[in-house]
Amino acid sequence: MRIEGAGGCFDNRVYELDIDVAWNIIMLSINEMGVTIDSIDEEKRLIHFHNKKKIMQIAVQQLDDETIQIIMDATKERLQIYNWKKETKEVNLFYELFENKLREYRAFILCPQCHAKISSLVKFCPECGTKVK
Ligand SMILES: [Zn+2]
Repeated sequence: MRIEGAGGCFDNRVYELDIDVAWNIIMLSINEMGVTIDSIDEEKRLIHFHNKKKIMQIAVQQLDDETIQIIMDATKERLQIYNWKKETKEVNLFYELFENKLREYRAFILCPQCHAKISSLVKFCPECGTKVK
């Protein structure tokens, strides 16, 4: 469900995914957003970060054995009452990066050394340790 308000945007999306995998993909995605990370709470699965204009946070929640929910919230640092421009850029960027990486993660490649079926996102084969990329 997406909520767009004055100078901000909130969105939550549900995925069938292991929460540790989701967390890793989230970290990779945030690293590509050009933001500064303020705090990471691994236990609560909560990340706070910002760029020049917005304060953002991402939370991951386990819904059931196979399902997780990722919540992202972005708010302008200073609210501009008379600004009707949509402020969805960062939220859209995050989900786009995340979903692209998730597709990559779910795509498999064969290790050139041991021919194990491995995720196309890993740098080293988890079976034999060969550098893949
Ligand atoms: Zn291998």
